[in-house]
Amino acid sequence: MRVGLFGGSFNPIHFGHLRSAEEVREALNLDLIYFVPAASPPHKVEGELAPAEHRLAMVRLATKGNRHFMVSDTEIRRLGRSYTVDTTRHFLQTLRQPSTLFLMLGADLFVDLETWKEAATLVTLCNLVVHSRVAADDTESGHHATVVAVLKRFGYIKQQDHYVHPSGQTLSFVETTILPISATLIRDKLRRRESIRYLVPNDVLDYIERHGLY
Ligand code: ATP
Repeated sequence: MRVGLFGGSFNPIHFGHLRSAEEVREALNLDLIYFVPAASPPHKVEGELAPAEHRLAMVRLATKGNRHFMVSDTEIRRLGRSYTVDTTRHFLQTLRQPSTLFLMLGADLFVDLETWKEAATLVTLCNLVVHSRVAADDTESGHHATVVAVLKRFGYIKQQDHYVHPSGQTLSFVETTILPISATLIRDKLRRRESIRYLVPNDVLDYIERHGLY
C-alpha cells in the first residue's frame, strides 16, 4: 500500500488542505492519506488552538466522503509535543499491510526540515512529498536556493522527476493548486463575524457554529 501522511494543526481544516491532499493522492497514486491532527505542534504558539478533540472531529467531518482519506488520532492520544519522526515510526509499526509511507510537507515546512527532531533519521524512514506552487527547479523563486541547499545537506540526489536519498527513500515535488486559504484567515474572519462559507466544508462550518469555536 502507498500511504500518505498529512500532519497539521487543522485549526480548522479547510479546502486548501483537502484540495492539496486530493492532488497529491492523484499525482503519486496513493491508496490512502492519513490526516494526523497535532496535539501540540512544536512550531505553533498556543492560545488560538482549539481543543484537540474539536480539531479532530472537524477533520473527521471534512474527510468522511472520501474513501481514500483516513484520520489518525495518534498524536492527540500521545499528548505532549508531537514529533513527526515519532508519528512516522508509529505508522511503520502499526499499519497492517506492508506500506510505503509518503510524508506530505508544505514547502514552507520543508525549508525548516533540519530543525526537526531526528531529521536525518526521518528522511531514512519515509518518502517526502513537498507540495506547493514552487517546483524545485523553479529558479525564479527566492525559495529555490534554500530548497536546493536543504536537498544537498540531506544528501538527496536528483533523478529524472524526483530525488533519491542514499537510504533509498525519495523526495518528490508536487505542484498543487494553491487556494489562498489558511486557518489563520478563517479564524480572523470568525473573529470579525464574517462568513467563512465556501472556505471550509459545510459540516465544518456547522460544527464551528454549534460549538462556538474561535
Ligand atoms: P495556520 O494558518 O493556523 O498556520 P494552516 O492553514 O497553514 O494554519 P496547518 O494545519 O498549519 O494549516 O497546515 C498543515 C499543512 O497544510 C502544512 O503543511 C501547510 O503547508 C499545508 N497547507 C496549509 N494551507 C494550505 C493551502 N491553502 N493549500 C495547500 N496546503 C496548505
